[in-house]
Parts: sequence; C-alpha cells; structure tokens
Amino acid sequence: MNHAVSKLIVTPEKHLKLGDIDPDESHGMTKEAALDALVQCQKRLSVLQYLLYAEGRRALLVVLQGIDAAGKDGTIRRVMSGLNPQGVRVTPFKVPEGAEKRHDYLWRIHNSLPEYGQIGIFNRSHYEDVLVVRVHGLVPKSVWSKRYRQINDFERMLSENNVRILKFLLYISKEEQAKRFRQRLEDKRKNWKFSPDDVKERQYWDAYIDAYNDVLEKCSTDYAPWYVIPANKKWFRNLAVAQIVLETLESMKLKSPKPTADLSNIQFE
Ligand code: ADP
Repeated sequence: MNHAVSKLIVTPEKHLKLGDIDPDESHGMTKEAALDALVQCQKRLSVLQYLLYAEGRRALLVVLQGIDAAGKDGTIRRVMSGLNPQGVRVTPFKVPEGAEKRHDYLWRIHNSLPEYGQIGIFNRSHYEDVLVVRVHGLVPKSVWSKRYRQINDFERMLSENNVRILKFLLYISKEEQAKRFRQRLEDKRKNWKFSPDDVKERQYWDAYIDAYNDVLEKCSTDYAPWYVIPANKKWFRNLAVAQIVLETLESMKLKSPKPTADLSNIQFE
C-alpha cells in the first residue's frame, strides 16, 4: 500500500485520536500532482467498477462521515464522477422519519445497501446513531453505548456476505468549517447549503470530537476499517479517498465471469 495512504488507516493498535492528525496535512503532495493523480485514479476506478458489475458477486460500501461542511457531497461528486451511474447507489441519511422511526436504527441502513456488483455510497450512515444521537442525548446512554458492538456485529455479518466496507472520516479544522460557512453565506449560489442549525451544531464541536474518537477506537476493524482523511485541502481529500477505494478494488482481484455457454460455435445471420 502507498505509504501516505497507509498512515490514514485507524487500526485498533494505533490508538489514533483526531488530535494526533493535522487536517491540513497533504503528505508532501502538491495540488497539481494531486489533480493529475486523481484523473488517473478515476480512469482505473471506472475499469474496476465494470469488472465488479460484470462479476456481480460482491459489493463495495463506502461510508462517508464528517462534521458539517467537511465535504461529503464534494467528495462524492469529485471522486465518483467517472463511474457508471447504473452500478452506483448513493444514499443520504437524514433525521429518521416515517417507517425509519418505526424500526431499529439499522433497518434503513440494511435497506440501502448496494446490490452485489454495485458500489454503495453512504452520505452519513448508521454512525449518526452514535454521533448526533449521543451528542444530543436523543436516546439514553444505556441505549447508544451498546450500539458500537451492534455496529461491529452488523458490519462483520455484511463483510462475511461479500460486502466490502470502507469508512472515511473527512476531518476539517474548526477554522476551516468557519471559512466554509462564511463562503456559503457570502456566495449567493451557495446560500442554499447554509442552515442556521449548522451554527448551533458548531457549539457542540468538542462533544462531536469525543464521539468521533470513540467511534474510531471502538469500530475500526479489519473487516471495516476507518480512515481519517485530512480534509482541509479538498484536492488532497479527493485523492486520498480515490486512492483508498482504488487500492481496495484492486485487492479484490476482480475478473469478468466466464461465459455461461460455449461461444466458439455460435452462428447467426
Ligand atoms: P447534510 O447531510 O447535507 O448535512 P442535512 O442538512 O439535511 O444534510 O442534515 C441531515 C441531518 O440529519 C444532520 O444534522 C444529521 O445529524 C441528521 N441525522 C442523520 N441521521 C440521524 C439519526 N439517526 N438521528 C438523528 N439525526 C440524524
């Protein structure tokens, strides 16, 4: 694995905390080189996506989490733009409503998984149920504290059933968040992205960091690793995510399936 990328994995042994990571980091990469490398990654991703689809036996699930304005939407747009939309399923998770509220918190997650052959992208995820839910005390601690184990069990079950899982925490600094909020307020085209609730959430910054640190400590596993992506620099963020997705697909040794019939003697007019 590429040296810089391997540093971004949160293995349980590393005991990595967000405080140890610089959200401005770019591992010596320049913007120009990163943009070029991203184009190369995208080309290769599209080839591998085709094979994943042709094989039709395994799925890849990409989970994106991050504090408001961390760049979840931008990452999806930039990293996945070369893919065939037929083989991609993107699901955003908002405040649960309707049937979602009448089931356990993992029900909507299970219902939104990619089919075999697809790449699924979660814009927020089941981790909200140990993040926003914990920070705002939406359920008692006795309920949310059991969820780390439940999530690990759920992800293990998925991985044993041919769903490869990658989880990305897009990590920006508090200053960078303020800068992005200001841009949303100043630029008319970005106004729609701004919600006064985002400013309220910002007051809970430290509580979110604690909640994220617990997620990293308890839920980064061999079968569903977390990666903390320094995300102040969008070009670094995009390349890091693209490279990790690419390396994972490469490691899956995808092959197009053999034809189901003997094609050597087929004739038609
Ligand atoms: P975006 O993801 O672009 O920020 P929204 O502005 O609609 O989209 O925000 C979605 C909101 O839904 C977030 O504040 C998020 O914390 C909240 N949310 C997602 N999942 C849950 C959940 N399980 N319980 C409570 N709130 C949730």
